[in-house]
Amino acid sequence: MAGRKAHKIATLGSHSALQILKGAKDEGFLTICVVNTMRLSLYRRFKFIDKIIEIPSFSSFGSIEDQLIRENAIIIPHGSFVAYLGIEVNKKMNVAYFGNKAVLDWESDRKLQRKWMQIANISVPKRFKKGEKIDRPVIVKSYGAAGGQGYFFAKNQKELTFRLKSFKPKKFIVQEYVIGVPLYIHYFYSSITNTLEILSIDKRYETNVDSLGRIPSQNQQGLGIEPSFVVVGNSPLVLRESLLGEAFNMGEKVVATSKNIIKGGIWGPFCLETIITPEQKFSIIEISCRIVAGTNLFINGSPYSSLYWNKEVSTGRRIAMEIKEAIKKGKLNKILS
Ligand code: ATP
Repeated sequence: MAGRKAHKIATLGSHSALQILKGAKDEGFLTICVVNTMRLSLYRRFKFIDKIIEIPSFSSFGSIEDQLIRENAIIIPHGSFVAYLGIEVNKKMNVAYFGNKAVLDWESDRKLQRKWMQIANISVPKRFKKGEKIDRPVIVKSYGAAGGQGYFFAKNQKELTFRLKSFKPKKFIVQEYVIGVPLYIHYFYSSITNTLEILSIDKRYETNVDSLGRIPSQNQQGLGIEPSFVVVGNSPLVLRESLLGEAFNMGEKVVATSKNIIKGGIWGPFCLETIITPEQKFSIIEISCRIVAGTNLFINGSPYSSLYWNKEVSTGRRIAMEIKEAIKKGKLNKILS
């Protein structure tokens, strides 16, 4: 590896850290895991982690940043970065950071996300304005909820008005409930080679909505069961091949649009959270502009990643491959921010 001191790959011990660091090691990088004391024993178990930097809690991240800079580390952000450190800490990080920080503002704001998809001409569920009468089933989502916690479903206006009376969150959205299969497509866009790959796909397992069919509807009557959307796990999925072309089209539109609306555009991993209707149309409920937890199913690669690479390539490893390629071509600055 080029440079005065070889670059190392570092991340926070959480979310998809094992996948990221294993992938980096497989690509020949030295790896660093920043862990809080509580998780130390977990991350010590893995030989592909060369160095562990312990901090009392993730909020002390700032105190070890200089050490990471001295190590010539490149930070790979994942889902816990914004959740535990907050957007501002991410934006102000001085250590080399893989991905475009300018995307963070768009990702964290549901309205901006929607604007991005609409400019890209990608279908999104109808959103009802505050107080607007609904004419179809809806899902009510509070802001800042994670993993579907605290969402509720209302089949008509009467039910919505009733439920909203006892709904505590002040900021929420009322969105058309799209009936279909939720499917999460894991993309990787290389700004070095200008290519888009679909690396894997997953489906979430949510309680209780995914298990309601286990009790026949006549037995549910009178029980007052409400659907909830709390994520408990992920399962792998391959898409019907005739739908794959549209999945690529959507990813390409997202990337192309990002170049027009966000300085530098998006690069690296991102995920479109979709629902496919019986008409086989995708509706996009969310975009995550980073590695998502569903990719952890594919530490050994996936049916899709093996179509591009003759080795086991996870999203974590793909990131390391991109960094290696950028170093080789003298374009590292192009993929850091
Ligand atoms: P995360 O940040 O972990 O992705 P989240 O809290 O932002 O989760 P969403 O991804 O918006 O939540 O939604 C959680 C779940 O709620 C989805 O997986 C899906 O099952 C259901 N859901 C969300 N929006 C809709 C919709 N418009 N129609 C039908 N189901 C929906």
